[in-house]
Amino acid sequence: MKNKTPIKNIIAESYLLRRSYVSDDLEKSLDNLAKYTTASFTDHRFASGTEFNGWVVPKKWNVIKATIHHKGKLIYDGMHHPLAVITQSDSFEGTVSLNELKKHLYYAPNHPDAIPFHFRLSYRAWQNDWGFCVPKTLFDSLKAGDYVVSLQTEHTMGDMVVREFVIPGKTEEAIMFVAHTDHPGMCNDDLAGCAVGVSLLDEIKKKFPNNHYTYKVLLVQEIMGSVFYLSRLSEKEIKKIKYGLFLEMLGNDNSLNIQKSLQGTTYIDTVSQLALHTVGEETRICEFREAAGNDEIVFEAPGIEIPMPSLSRWPYSEYHTSNDNLELMHEDKLQESLNYLIELVFILENDMMLKRKFTGLVSLANPKYDLYIDPGQILDNTLGQNFRQTNFQYRMPNYLNGEHRISDLALEFGIDFKWLHQYFSKMAEKGLVEFKR
Ligand SMILES: [Zn+2]
Repeated sequence: MKNKTPIKNIIAESYLLRRSYVSDDLEKSLDNLAKYTTASFTDHRFASGTEFNGWVVPKKWNVIKATIHHKGKLIYDGMHHPLAVITQSDSFEGTVSLNELKKHLYYAPNHPDAIPFHFRLSYRAWQNDWGFCVPKTLFDSLKAGDYVVSLQTEHTMGDMVVREFVIPGKTEEAIMFVAHTDHPGMCNDDLAGCAVGVSLLDEIKKKFPNNHYTYKVLLVQEIMGSVFYLSRLSEKEIKKIKYGLFLEMLGNDNSLNIQKSLQGTTYIDTVSQLALHTVGEETRICEFREAAGNDEIVFEAPGIEIPMPSLSRWPYSEYHTSNDNLELMHEDKLQESLNYLIELVFILENDMMLKRKFTGLVSLANPKYDLYIDPGQILDNTLGQNFRQTNFQYRMPNYLNGEHRISDLALEFGIDFKWLHQYFSKMAEKGLVEFKR
């Protein structure tokens, strides 16, 4: 078990691989990631050309040579970085004018020294094109004249591999964490999500040995992997995935953000917001699709309808450029993201429906209960620092009707879940309340 490896090292190992959707490098990154968990996994394979709802699995793709010469001098070698040739580019050999060449060059306006991520062809198996991604500084410096392009790529039949890790629980009801493995040459988007997700698995095994829920980490090709993975599940299997959480962009220097599910008020929305309070982050919560958009639209699609909020540190300016590199990754932010997820699992595992076993008002101060929260000075109207808790104790009894969970009260009263869980556990010990799932 190697869960003590810094998460940044897990990212470092795979980020420069040419992880196009169907590629040896993507499978290599999956094997790299799998080294950091003892959880078992299943690979789901989808052959190139497979079609579902108009989505087509691309061909296996690799780059062999990618040079541009001008007046006999090499001005660009697209082998230096996995983003330097557009993903799924065709081969091209020939001499072109500057104007023609520029139609096949892409740059990042806000990061003139970086190169952008061009991914469109991965989603358009029916479209053919060739191209390079270059620094804007190079693009701007090109002089009129002829350019000799030698771009050799290979398209062959292969399998798109989606890897599903699982920790079985007492129930088959599953919580699914999803992250995407593609995006060659970048870290935050989204190897960061994959590395944190994989790191979570053994933490769950260690910290929650009698876990109630089944936990899954699904590593996909963005949108496409999720579409095809779900296309093979029966209605019954889809129903077992109770809730999801998308993990993305978890290592840059920004606070955590929860983007709510489509409905916005589901159980996983409550839990994901509460976990944010518990890690003490500045609270950033937004509506569906107001932050980074990912595979939540696949899981929330009609007929599937698995609520899927998204955890990220969006926004960051290096997005979709080669500057989304290791320098952007902060180990403390990655660890904080992992801690957030451990809190989330703690809430899921310990959350209970509350049903009172008393009628009328109970004297909580009686030593046999010892549950009264003392407001402090008897005539101090400010009630000290524990206003929320003292206020909570007067209103709480009427919520104990078997229809509210601990998490509902934590959100309603703005109180830390762990504190409330301890309080109600004590109430349960004193025979005042009973827990139900
Ligand atoms: Zn992206």
